[in-house]
Amino acid sequence: MPIQIQNVCCGMIQENAWIVRLEGREDCAVIDPGDEYPKLKQAIGDRRVAAILLTHGHFDHIMAVGEMAAETGAPVYVGAEDAEMLNAPELNGYVDLMGVSRMPGPAIAALPFGGTLSVAGLDFQVLPTPGHSKGSVCLYLPEEGVLFSGDTLFAGGYGRLDLHGGSPLDMRNSLKALFGLPGEVRVYPGHGGPTTIARERVRYRL
Ligand SMILES: [Zn+2]
Repeated sequence: MPIQIQNVCCGMIQENAWIVRLEGREDCAVIDPGDEYPKLKQAIGDRRVAAILLTHGHFDHIMAVGEMAAETGAPVYVGAEDAEMLNAPELNGYVDLMGVSRMPGPAIAALPFGGTLSVAGLDFQVLPTPGHSKGSVCLYLPEEGVLFSGDTLFAGGYGRLDLHGGSPLDMRNSLKALFGLPGEVRVYPGHGGPTTIARERVRYRL
């Protein structure tokens, strides 16, 4: 079945949320619902949200998680090492300007690092890619040739290394591992436009 990937660009930092589903199925996976829940809800329509998957714990990737999880009952998955960041503004970078907490709440499950998570008929391989944060992951769909790279790999760059849990050495190893994937794999990052592994790996000498 062909895959459908819908982008919703969320919030002040223009974060990419991804709604992913197989054609003909009524359910979907939502990756990094960063903000603007009403906009996300409209894009999802009457599809069932089977799970919410987070590439990492930064505030701009998680601010709609609480509302979405409460309304849909969907489980929330994040890399275990980033779980503590989700409700801790001092770790996830959230600055409360409105006097209203927008943190996601307690219903969090750990992603199977290095394992596979089946959601809405899709088998996501969870690739541990620390560097931008300790628990950063990339979500890889080998059959579909698609990678959701969060803030690890962008078109023309990689994520910041100076935030909580950031590590240049880890980032180097993570990028090295990602560049071992087939060149034609399409990459959907947490910010900016899509790219491919082939297009990105030629920029680096790792
Ligand atoms: Zn980030």
